[in-house]
Amino acid sequence: MHTTALVMFSGGQASTPCLAHALTQYERVETLGFDYGQRHSVEMTQRLRVLEKIRTDFAQWAPKLGDDHVLSLDVLKQIGGSSLTDDVAFAMQADGLPNTFVPGRNLLFLTLAGALAYRRGLQVIVTGVCETDFSGYPDCRDDTMKAMQLALNLGLERRLRIATPLMWIDKAATWQMAHTLGGEALVQLIVQETHTCYEGTRDVLHDWGYGCGTCPACDLRAKGWQRWKQVQAV
Ligand code: ZN
Repeated sequence: MHTTALVMFSGGQASTPCLAHALTQYERVETLGFDYGQRHSVEMTQRLRVLEKIRTDFAQWAPKLGDDHVLSLDVLKQIGGSSLTDDVAFAMQADGLPNTFVPGRNLLFLTLAGALAYRRGLQVIVTGVCETDFSGYPDCRDDTMKAMQLALNLGLERRLRIATPLMWIDKAATWQMAHTLGGEALVQLIVQETHTCYEGTRDVLHDWGYGCGTCPACDLRAKGWQRWKQVQAV
């Protein structure tokens, strides 16, 4: 029986429903963020805001929410070449992947999450990766997660589980999941406090959250919100 979890928590629109999911499933939940020299440090600020709001506004979850951890991964910036870490505009690469792809990022994240889970005595690693309407990142695939779970369990001599509650659902269904778990209060927390825009813009608040409104991340979010609202209206 799994009762403890480590949620990979970036403060974005995917990892916040994952955190809510974990807080309904497990008795003790800790969170992990990575500081890898993101061009937009707003993500690191907003994740603390989300955690604070969960502690103050969600009495049913607050007692289960344990320590937050932030690990520094400057090495990703040293490798460079991604629009998430370098000062270059978003573009598609010749191989069909967006240049927001940071090679090996999720593999490193999961390895470090496994090491931290080992140290903290946590049984499940929860991550918001998703194969449905994603951007083609190969390190978000279900097979990658299963391979990493196996590698961690062999390398650490543990029975860790990697849980991916969003793997097979789209953005509209993710909103529905958030609503089911935490009602309108959680939906509004996600709209107002999470950060997912590639441009780091927080000037304009749309129905679906802050963002530039035009980058691929914003585009996906806007469409997902509209689909969810259409489904709700039926
Ligand atoms: Zn954007």
